Amino acid sequence: MTHRATDPNGHGIQSAEWFRQTYGENAKGRCEICDAELALRVAHPPHTVTHFAHKAGSRCSSLEQYRHAVFNLKPSALDLENGKRLRAWVLKELYPVYLKAYSLSGRKLAWGDFQRALIDANTRGIFDYAGLEAHYLPYLLLCLYPERFHDKTTYDSIDAYFVLPAGMKHLDDLWNKKGEIKQTMWKVSHITRQSRRGAPKAVEMFTEIEAIAMDDAPFYIPSWVASAQAKLEPLLAF
Ligand SMILES: [Zn+2]
Repeated sequence: MTHRATDPNGHGIQSAEWFRQTYGENAKGRCEICDAELALRVAHPPHTVTHFAHKAGSRCSSLEQYRHAVFNLKPSALDLENGKRLRAWVLKELYPVYLKAYSLSGRKLAWGDFQRALIDANTRGIFDYAGLEAHYLPYLLLCLYPERFHDKTTYDSIDAYFVLPAGMKHLDDLWNKKGEIKQTMWKVSHITRQSRRGAPKAVEMFTEIEAIAMDDAPFYIPSWVASAQAKLEPLLAF
């Protein structure tokens, strides 16, 4: 279940509530990750919010049990020389690569877990997959990471993981077929929210999806930084 979908009539990505108000309770959306049709499920308070669900049998990478399936795909070709170069590069640039992955993780990725993901990628032979470019590594490592990233705010308990696009034939399609495969990683957050109204201890459970474009920037800047800047501005009056 996800809180948003792509509008088949060209209005981009919209919330489940927007679909309900625009098209009614039988609205259909498309999954931004696997492109499959999603069915709207209208809220049954207090435990659910209006959301989208995949059809039974879906193997979308947003679903936890399939999120690692892309790493089991065979490579279309190998390039051992490129693999050697990349491993030498990642050893030299170890800390910058960690910082990129750390910033993408919402500052949750521990140093030891980063090293374990790196060793796992190497054991799977991913460095040798033809055409791999260095800047994909932090994204691959985060998606490979087996645990969930836990976070807690005043009302929310959040468990998140990261996924690559669904529907690839080979993992290396991600960098070898840039025109066909979305250059996007998604953060899938399973949220348990304490209700602010209604019965005490009422909780809502839902899933939020956030798209993160893959790039070669030295670190990732999350969207909340803009509001922090706006709040700081009067305090740093110059
Ligand atoms: Zn999907």
